[in-house]
Parts: sequence; C-alpha cells; structure tokens
Amino acid sequence: MLTCDKNIKDLKVLISEEEIQKKVKLLAEDIEKVFPKGEDIYVICVLKGSSMFCIDLIKHFKNPIQLEFIRISSYGHETKSTNNLQAIDLTLPNLNEKNVLIVEDIIDTGLTARFLTDLFKIKHLPKKLVFTSLLNKKCARQIEIEPDFYGFEIDDKFVVGYGLDYKGYYRNLPYIGYFPQ
Ligand code: 5GP
Repeated sequence: MLTCDKNIKDLKVLISEEEIQKKVKLLAEDIEKVFPKGEDIYVICVLKGSSMFCIDLIKHFKNPIQLEFIRISSYGHETKSTNNLQAIDLTLPNLNEKNVLIVEDIIDTGLTARFLTDLFKIKHLPKKLVFTSLLNKKCARQIEIEPDFYGFEIDDKFVVGYGLDYKGYYRNLPYIGYFPQ
C-alpha cells in the first residue's frame, strides 16, 4: 500500500481556497485584456501542476479557447528543484501566428519558464505569447525571468495543493499549504 510520509494534519494553509478563487478570476480578466477581443487563444496547460489553476482560469475567459496539454517534470520526488528538466510530452498543434497563453503552477528557479518561453518563441512562432503562473518564488530564482502575470508571490517554501504535489499526493486540495520544517 502506498502512503505519504507527510501527514495532512501537519499541513499549514498558506493560501485559502477563497483567496485563490478570487485571484484566479482577477488574473483571467487581466490576461484576457492583452489578447485581441474575440480571437482564439491557445491555452497551454503545463501538467501536472498547473491542471487545477488552468481549468479554473479558462472558466472566466470570454474569447474562444483551444486547450492543449504538455508535460514537463523538474522535481521528481524531491522538494528542491533538481535542475534536471524532463520534457515528457510536448506534442502540440501548429501554433504559428496564434495567440498562445502558457499556464504554469509556480516559477521557482526559472529554468522551466525559460525553457518553455524559448521553445515557444523559436519553434512555434506565435503571434502573441503570454506566460502566467499562479505562484512566484522570486527569492529562489537562478536565472532572470519573470512571468507576464502571476497570482501570488511566496517565500522559498515547498508548497502543495491546488495541483501541486508532494510525491504525487495532495494535488486535490483546493488550497495551498506547506509542511513546517
Ligand atoms: P523551476 O524550473 O522554476 O525551478 O520549477 C518549476 C517547477 O518545479 C514547477 O512547475 C513545479 O512543478 C515544481 N515546483 C517548484 N516549486 C515547487 C513547490 O513549492 N511545490 C511543488 N509541489 N512543486 C514545485
């Protein structure tokens, strides 16, 4: 039987479900303003961490949406970035001259964000490329990069919930929390 070595009773709430939902609505409104009204937006959900954020975000969009998924892994089962990006599935339709929104869960070292923005700019040549992340750990950055939009800046803590996992667990929580050391 698989069980998690960190117990939910030790988890502290960092950002409540209510705060997340309010912020996601505001973010969606701000993001949509930078795309031409009425034009298709290709939303790229970066699995698995941004799954909940992305699905909640697109519920607020008025423009027509095409939803695509890619899968990248950087932490494995660690709570510190391994600096070892694994592109598991980057299959996408032709995005040349399209409006593209990349949706990430969290920017930590910045390596994934850099990899993705370079990849999209060079390989896909979109008309407009916008990068959003729910969380931003500015203090953990190893390279200089900032998302166009983000929801919350957080300290350099390992967080779980709302799509983010610890060893595969806790993605289903509707809030974001952390395990105090
Ligand atoms: P970066 O490439 O910026 O170092 O890391 C980005 C990825 O690392 C995120 O998409 C996420 O999957 C993972 N990550 C970074 N910080 C955290 C964290 O605090 N908790 C969890 N669960 N994953 C994180």
